[in-house]
Amino acid sequence: MLGIGVAESLVLVVITLACALPALAGVAMFVMTIVDTARGQGRWGINFKGASCPQCKQAAPTIRVPKTVGQALWGGWTCERCQLEIDKWGKPIRDR
Ligand SMILES: [Zn+2]
Repeated sequence: MLGIGVAESLVLVVITLACALPALAGVAMFVMTIVDTARGQGRWGINFKGASCPQCKQAAPTIRVPKTVGQALWGGWTCERCQLEIDKWGKPIRDR
C-alpha cells in the first residue's frame, strides 16, 4: 500500500484534471488550426498565401492593425481603399 487516503486521492484527481484539461484544449486548438489551414477557411487556420480585397484588389497590409475585436482575435482586416471588412482568407465579412 502507498498509504494514500481518500482525501489525498481526490486532491490527486483534481490536480490531474487541472493539468489535463488545458492540455486537451491546446491539442483541440492545434488540430482546429491545422484543419482550417488545410481547407483555407474558418477562424482557426493560418493563411500563408496572403490575401487581397475581393472588391478593389488592394493587397492586405503587411502590418495588420486590427480595427475590431474580431479582427484582433481571428484575423482579417479592413480594406484601406474601400473600407470593406475582410477575413484573413480574403472573404468579405457581411454580418457584423
Ligand atoms: Zn478594398
